[in-house]
Amino acid sequence: MNRREFLKLTGTAGAVLTAGELGVPALARAAGKESAEQRIPTLCEMCTSRCGIFAVVENGKVTRIEGNPDHPTNLGRPCARGNAGVSALYDPDRLKRPMKRGADGKFQPISWEQAFEEIGAKLTEIKLKYAPETVAFIEYNNLNSTLTKRFIEAYGSPNHTGHAANCFANRNVGYSAVFGTLPTVDYKNVKYYLSPGRNLLGGIKVYEVAGLAEAKNHGAKIVVLDPRYSELATWGEWLPIKSAGDLALLLAIANVLITENLYNKEWVAAHCNGLEQTKAEIVQYTPEWQVQHTDIPAEKVREIARDMAKAAPAAVVDPGWHGGNGMYWNGFEAARAGAIVNALLGNWGAKGGLKGSPKVALGTIDTPPEGAVVDSGGGG
Ligand code: SF4
Repeated sequence: MNRREFLKLTGTAGAVLTAGELGVPALARAAGKESAEQRIPTLCEMCTSRCGIFAVVENGKVTRIEGNPDHPTNLGRPCARGNAGVSALYDPDRLKRPMKRGADGKFQPISWEQAFEEIGAKLTEIKLKYAPETVAFIEYNNLNSTLTKRFIEAYGSPNHTGHAANCFANRNVGYSAVFGTLPTVDYKNVKYYLSPGRNLLGGIKVYEVAGLAEAKNHGAKIVVLDPRYSELATWGEWLPIKSAGDLALLLAIANVLITENLYNKEWVAAHCNGLEQTKAEIVQYTPEWQVQHTDIPAEKVREIARDMAKAAPAAVVDPGWHGGNGMYWNGFEAARAGAIVNALLGNWGAKGGLKGSPKVALGTIDTPPEGAVVDSGGGG
């Protein structure tokens, strides 16, 4: 790749990276040469799922998106929010340039130069007067986040927060603490599916819903722990658990798997450390003990543990988004407990169990043609 191609390519990447939360301008700018209608492969960035889509561009304007059937997340079916991205792209109220609040309390547009100058001066002032750590960078996690994290670190502050802190951080950290990585579920082959606090049907992961629907059609047992009767609860057995009780219930399942000798000894012996310490600790978390935290009878917990052991390794505790009751004080521990139950079931890598992310072979990236321009809704 020569320098000219590199600059063209980084120009395109820059368009993606500066697209911000909505991200839709990125798909517009990723377009190649103009013609009556083009289908430009790109990613939807209306949420962190980043489904594969085609931006349909007519006369330099994105008119709609279509799903990319080759993309594993959405299997060619973007959700309603993704489809709305085109409206956001051309919404007259979309923020496209820096705005500054005036003395009258109203926002007025200012130039990028003025914005950079004023923000830079203010950041320097705060750093010298107080400390860099007094500044936090708060944003929605997006394709910019790697850069914004580097920026705030370079400024001298470790304080960056975003979507993850309000959503999946407990799950990611809890599951990574046990498995070293964040797994997903082989939904379509699962035989026993335990969902702590997740409502798959009210969410946005198309391929997961399609997979679980297939499993359900093949007779999979679905058990939903949720204080409310969610859409997913209609697909199986609903256990209205007390809020923040998932940790207690998962520990009690681990207790039954261990004390009744139902865990996958072969898998655990081959892959796990600390079984003796776990055994010593888990004895206190009995099905009877968990009742005070869950309102779920002890016998029901025994039944779940025994049935999961029978269905294993195609039995799974869904890490979901929160790894359990993620948004409570014990969310991280609930995620860890869910991961430990999965490990005891020996379902890692098994059909109908947990799976790691596959390695993807990278192809080549075409540089955009000379002078490619697509209307990205204006601004910059
Ligand atoms: S789930 Fe919907 S909003 Fe999220 S990336 Fe996919 S199509 Fe876009």
